[in-house]
Amino acid sequence: MPVADTITCVDCGGTCHRSPFEAPELGWEVGQVVTYRCVDCHDMWYLEIDDDDLDDAASGDGPAWP
Ligand SMILES: [Zn+2]
Repeated sequence: MPVADTITCVDCGGTCHRSPFEAPELGWEVGQVVTYRCVDCHDMWYLEIDDDDLDDAASGDGPAWP
């Protein structure tokens, strides 16, 4: 599945928004670290992209993002 725009905060259940919000021009890369900031408790979460995250985007040349 593609890289999520938002995740749920593990601490407080709030919404964490991805930073940067826009996908990179050349697409996401495995090993790239994506930052999420919780709107409620302002915690930062760091997720590293792995192969599973890119499965959809890897198949074909079509745009992975609308
Ligand atoms: Zn939170």
